[in-house]
Amino acid sequence: MAAEAQDPQPAPSGLAIFGVPVRFHFTFVLLIAFVVVGALADRRSAAEEALFLIGLFTSVLLHEIAHAIVGRTFGVRTIEIVMYPIGGVARLEKQPEPKAELWIALAGPVVNLIIAGGIIAILGGPAEIAKLQGKPESLWARLAVWNFYLAAFNLVPALPMDGGRALRAFLSMRRGDEFATRVAASMGKFLAVAMGIYGIYSGEVFIMLLALLIYMSASYESAASVGKALTQGIPVRAAMISDYRTLSHGATLREAADLLLATSQQDFPVVNGGQVIGLLDRTSFLRGMATEGPDTFVAGVMNRDFLNLSPDTDLAEAVAKLSEAGSCGLVMEEDRLLGLLTAENVSEFLMLRKLGVQPRT
Ligand SMILES: [Zn+2]
Repeated sequence: MAAEAQDPQPAPSGLAIFGVPVRFHFTFVLLIAFVVVGALADRRSAAEEALFLIGLFTSVLLHEIAHAIVGRTFGVRTIEIVMYPIGGVARLEKQPEPKAELWIALAGPVVNLIIAGGIIAILGGPAEIAKLQGKPESLWARLAVWNFYLAAFNLVPALPMDGGRALRAFLSMRRGDEFATRVAASMGKFLAVAMGIYGIYSGEVFIMLLALLIYMSASYESAASVGKALTQGIPVRAAMISDYRTLSHGATLREAADLLLATSQQDFPVVNGGQVIGLLDRTSFLRGMATEGPDTFVAGVMNRDFLNLSPDTDLAEAVAKLSEAGSCGLVMEEDRLLGLLTAENVSEFLMLRKLGVQPRT
């Protein structure tokens, strides 16, 4: 359905197209199972239905791949494509620049229009398609019509649809990103409420579900935009934890556990003679406790490949990196440790900013 920039997580290995991993959401797998069971019960028509669904999802997949390919030409990597029963989502590593976002967003619906136009041209035009009613070939006509629906639905100028992204990109060139997102997200919420009301009156469960998903995505987009506006132009230095405890490389996990209880800190830089050699975060602590036991040295289980942030990095950029790396990043100047940046302290920082507290500089 959309190309969205959100918290990236490593994708599992498996199917990949043009180097982009494709993941099937479990609800999508359920849908396939449902169709297969249906096909066994009622052989002919259900088998045709399954063929139609395969065609439809191939169309959705091609739509998402178009986002990914155009994204790549603008230097924006696609982390993965996730297939849901109501459509696909191409997860981009970051929100692209307005000009790039416009083209990336439009690429998906354009593919559906090409598929629909291509099928109609091959079948010999709209007049020929009307004659196929009732024949097995009418499957192709249905596919063409559904590709038009997909293009039309995705071009609605409201977030999280592609049309909403195009609208945001267009507005943000003139009025800035925050205003653009607010307008496009409000359109999404308005659309969702209208669809929800229609869904309730008509008793269409699918419409209600879609309305709920659109509302949630639109809210997420506007919240992410507010968070970005509050963190942009502020250096990491202003928000980092500067009062923290460290662990010596010779400390054991038992000592780390004591420190974990005694302080409110959850992630500890591991030092060796003033030099930072790793980070004992919650994940490595728990993994170490479970596999090696409390008498293991922290140096043996710590995370050596921790997130290293410069104090002058833009906080908005650091937050994006933090959500990719895990729970904690170390703020370092050359080899010197200056502080810690965690998701919790960033959210506290945001709360204070919303209350009007100016950041320290
Ligand atoms: Zn799309």
